[in-house]
Amino acid sequence: MPKYVFVTGGVVSSVGKGIVAASLGLLLKTRGLRIALMKLDPYINVDPGTMNPYEHGEVFVTDDGAETDLDLGHYQRFTGVKLSQKSNVTTGGIYNAVIQKERRGEYLGKTVQVIPHITDEIKRRIRMLTAEEEEETDVAIIEIGGTVGDIESLPFLEAIRQFHLDVGRQDCCTIHVTLLPYVEAAGELKTKPTQHSVRALRDIGITPNVIICRTGNLRLSAGERQKIAMFSNVSEESIIGAEDISPIYAIPLNFQQQGLDQTVLKILDLQPGDGDLREWREMVDRIESLKKHVRIAAIGKYVSHDDAYKSIHEALVHAGVYSDCRIDLDWVDSEQLETGAFDPNTLSNYDGVIICPGFGRRGIEGKIEAVRCIREGGIPFLGICLGMQIAVIELARNVLGLSEANSTEFDPETPQPVISLLSEQRGVREMGGTMRLGAYRCDLNHGAKAHAAYGVDVVYERHRHRYEFNNQYRERLENEANMIVSGVHTRDGHELVEIMELRDHPWFCASQFHPEFTSMPLKPQPLFREFVRAALKHREEHRRD
Ligand code: GLN
Repeated sequence: MPKYVFVTGGVVSSVGKGIVAASLGLLLKTRGLRIALMKLDPYINVDPGTMNPYEHGEVFVTDDGAETDLDLGHYQRFTGVKLSQKSNVTTGGIYNAVIQKERRGEYLGKTVQVIPHITDEIKRRIRMLTAEEEEETDVAIIEIGGTVGDIESLPFLEAIRQFHLDVGRQDCCTIHVTLLPYVEAAGELKTKPTQHSVRALRDIGITPNVIICRTGNLRLSAGERQKIAMFSNVSEESIIGAEDISPIYAIPLNFQQQGLDQTVLKILDLQPGDGDLREWREMVDRIESLKKHVRIAAIGKYVSHDDAYKSIHEALVHAGVYSDCRIDLDWVDSEQLETGAFDPNTLSNYDGVIICPGFGRRGIEGKIEAVRCIREGGIPFLGICLGMQIAVIELARNVLGLSEANSTEFDPETPQPVISLLSEQRGVREMGGTMRLGAYRCDLNHGAKAHAAYGVDVVYERHRHRYEFNNQYRERLENEANMIVSGVHTRDGHELVEIMELRDHPWFCASQFHPEFTSMPLKPQPLFREFVRAALKHREEHRRD
């Protein structure tokens, strides 16, 4: 029988519950336990797929094509566990399922209510996570989005209260993550909001077993620990301090030092082995003492939101650790390339440039111009999804001379649609559900840089896009523009171009998939790894510092 850990948040939002869940996942997995992770999100959107990255940050895609919250990215990077449709459930998704059941008459004429119908559906989803299909789970870690006290999270908390009764309290552990604000005038961290937040949780019928306190750049003192323990009715060893720590991969080490895993195991009455975090610790040490550095520019539309390209940022860090180099990353707003606020020619000051994924026509012309500068300047380039489409448009326009080449996403009437919908997609108007989502097989062509990077013939990488490379232009681009198609997905006898690169360039690789979603700190994604290596080489050859 699996055991369950619930992670709730109090006092403020963005308190770091996702990293807590991911860190505990790593600590338990390292001890040999089989873990599963899940996030319950209290918003009404059925999934975050349609949400604006400016507001919500990145959409993280799983192998089976779920568009999920970016916290799942942390889960995967910290633990490497397989995430799926089951790993992220929203209020919208729950209501959707309940309403569909009601329409099918499955509630047999009953009045459908939050309790028990919504809460039952939430509990069903939690159980589905640990249903033994492929692998058994020892501990399921379930993060509840939002903050205790919000109207939206109430049904989830109520479901969890019931869940404790259903499976037995001894099999459940609740970790409450809060913030201790620092009040300048008093010169101390304040515990009162945490006390109130624990009380709010208790009002709902949930008593936290562990409290993790965010303390900014201060350390939790023994006095504060005692005070919180007493007021919250939690033992002192179960109060864990969480000061701001960088890099984020050092956070689990801090938790381990304070015995978080041991406390949780005691509560759940589990006695696994000790676990060895040596490799992880070495990786953290390496991040803290990187000897070299490279300057990378990442061009995107949503650069003003810190988390809009979270996985790309992390994938670069992983690749940097591999090459012992710090990544000095500048985010470039693609619109500024168009308005002239950022001169694309200055990209030659960078050792490598990434063009990020994106939707919509805003900033597109600026990105095309950027690719021209990168291509002509011999600067290492990694194009991701839209980044590959832009690279193709640029080649078609500036090398083949197809001056009106475009994607039909940006110009539906273009006479030279080098990127377009597949014929079977045309006529589908609805936004959600028309995308190529999730992992697809990609066959790599021998002799190309992508093949050398991966070192295997077949890979599976994750997609999230609607438009595709138009094969009508393939031959010309290959014969006249030095383009190599280095990876393809074959479907019904047709090849979909998954990776393209340039023959006469130090490192110019672009993929229709999102390589950032599979990168791990101890196992950098191959395209990112080789991109950073190429950037390092470029720096060594072109700059003296
Ligand atoms: N907008 C492009 C498409 O739908 C690219 C999407 C992306 O970069 N994720 O095909």
